Amino acid sequence: MKHVVGKRQFRARWLRALLGACLSLLLALPVAAASGASGYRHYLLGDADAPTPGQVRPGLLLMGGGDRNFDAMHWFMEKAGNGHIVVLRASQGGEIGEEFFNEVGGIKSVETFVFKDREAATDPKILAALKRADGIFLAGGDQSRYVRYWRGTPVGAALDAHVKAGKPLGGTSAGLAMLGEYLYGAMDGGSQTSPRALADPLGDGNTIETDFLHIAQLKGIVTDTHFSERARLGRLVAFLAKAEHMAGKPLLGLGVDEDAAVAVAGDGSARIYATAPGAGATVVRGGFAQKQTEDAAMNLDRVDTVVAGADSLLRLPEGRVERPLAQRSYAVRDGVLVALDTPMLVIHGGAGVEPGDLTADEEAEVKRALEAALRAGHAKLQAGASSLDAVTAAITVLEDAPQFNAGRGAVFTHDGRNELDTSIMDGASGKAGAAAGLHRVRNPITLARAIMDKSNHVMMVGDGAELFAKEQGIALVDPSYFRTEKRWQALQKALQEEQDAQASNTPLVLPGKAYFGTVGALALDARGHLAAGTSTGGMTNKRYGRVGDSPIIGAGTWADARCAVSGTGWGEFYIRTAAAHEICARVRLDGQPLARAADGVINRDIPKAGGDGGAIALGADGSVAFPFNTGGMYRGWIGADGVPHVAIYREDPLPLP
Ligand code: ASP
Repeated sequence: MKHVVGKRQFRARWLRALLGACLSLLLALPVAAASGASGYRHYLLGDADAPTPGQVRPGLLLMGGGDRNFDAMHWFMEKAGNGHIVVLRASQGGEIGEEFFNEVGGIKSVETFVFKDREAATDPKILAALKRADGIFLAGGDQSRYVRYWRGTPVGAALDAHVKAGKPLGGTSAGLAMLGEYLYGAMDGGSQTSPRALADPLGDGNTIETDFLHIAQLKGIVTDTHFSERARLGRLVAFLAKAEHMAGKPLLGLGVDEDAAVAVAGDGSARIYATAPGAGATVVRGGFAQKQTEDAAMNLDRVDTVVAGADSLLRLPEGRVERPLAQRSYAVRDGVLVALDTPMLVIHGGAGVEPGDLTADEEAEVKRALEAALRAGHAKLQAGASSLDAVTAAITVLEDAPQFNAGRGAVFTHDGRNELDTSIMDGASGKAGAAAGLHRVRNPITLARAIMDKSNHVMMVGDGAELFAKEQGIALVDPSYFRTEKRWQALQKALQEEQDAQASNTPLVLPGKAYFGTVGALALDARGHLAAGTSTGGMTNKRYGRVGDSPIIGAGTWADARCAVSGTGWGEFYIRTAAAHEICARVRLDGQPLARAADGVINRDIPKAGGDGGAIALGADGSVAFPFNTGGMYRGWIGADGVPHVAIYREDPLPLP
């Protein structure tokens, strides 16, 4: 075997010669080893021959992939008697070993072996190191390499023997994903997304492997990592379905959040080390009643999950959780993961508000109005009403509140009128209703709803829409009802600015800041159905007949089985990017987590095109997003516990569900 001395080691040797420094302190020795077809790199820090100071005890550390979880690492090192750690991986170098030795500290040595192929798994030097190791840690990377390089090899057997001998084993990210009796091997080189995994649970993309490691405490368990992206629950459910299909027995899923580590003691009792509030591990109860069919999207009436947090006690391999952080139930419908019995309502009162725009009293009024809207929608959801009813109820409250640019308090057009636009969409049925150019409908959202429910149309405008409203018994008011002095003055200012710029005869250019307070609501009801609605007065000084995005299905409003969006911003840009639909399309087709999809459209694409604004988004799995690129956006949400959460400016804290 040819040993190649790395540059770093070379420098270290010179330093040692020059300074006569203590040998054991400077043993940063990356040694590249290669012989014939076999290959690995080897790094050593510390004194591999020093006696192990403490007692070595059994332990399993399941880390979700985030770094710097030092408490968890200290637990692991202590289980290893603060002695000698061997890190195995199949990509990168000795970085994690350096972190263990220098930052976590308190141990005698860390040896890292970076595998380059399967042949290395029979290398006597590696096997000797594994045998000596007080603790073994499997780093992150590409788990398919671990499966390919180690399954059925002496390394696989050595890992099993290490655990059986009562010594601690840890893994993070890919190093955690491969520990269970059944595992997602990512064998096709991809990282499976939830939508794809659920679209064909038994399909080839869900590369479930078994007969790798045989760890008693993870028997019957499929682990998953980087779980803080809520988006991973769907794929774990699909993995479980496939693993159960292969195993012919009920299994459990265990998803560990990126900011958490599960520390399992020898008796199977486990506690969570969390580095972020609310982080934990999710146990997914398998034993699915419905068998899945080949080449078909997943359907499952119910799947129960329990989240273990920092104060919980988790027992493995049973998956029992004492003092759980949360318990949630889901269904899978045609490949869409849906939260059950956890109603959620999300609202906005418009983007564009800047710090300094409002007095303290006005801020308090706005917050009260947002909370009232949340409570009104929540009351519907609690009573078992549909998400459509909740959206309608919340928006009605916001339309009635003069603080927002919808219903009473709408902004004025160039010719001094209030011209209202609105829309609503039902995610379950795909039905929608919309109206534009209204001057007399007191609560435009109720007209949108009536158009959806009672007409054959999706969209009606102007006089025709108002005639239909009258026929439906919807309250009409004198146009002066919508007028507020504040909005009137805003128009006067805009007209003056326009005149000053002598721009009145040039093509319409609306400044981005000319909008304030469009309102929108999204709801997820107890049956897991989504709805979205939006209502607006449009933009100050808009030309007669101008229609913005708010009443346009797909631009300002969208709801389908998995995703709902309501936008607020410079409408022309929302129309041109089909913003609301685009967000949901990225979730559905590209498998993006909701927050990333929403951020991409609102905070990247729209500003790039020259627009600005914000949106709210709600997933059928209960995930929410509030992207905006203005100084503030009136926004809030209310969950099953009925506690409203609201915020105005960018800096305002808004806890997420
Ligand atoms: N998007 C609305 C429009 O362009 C305005 C707003 O959201 O404030 O009509």
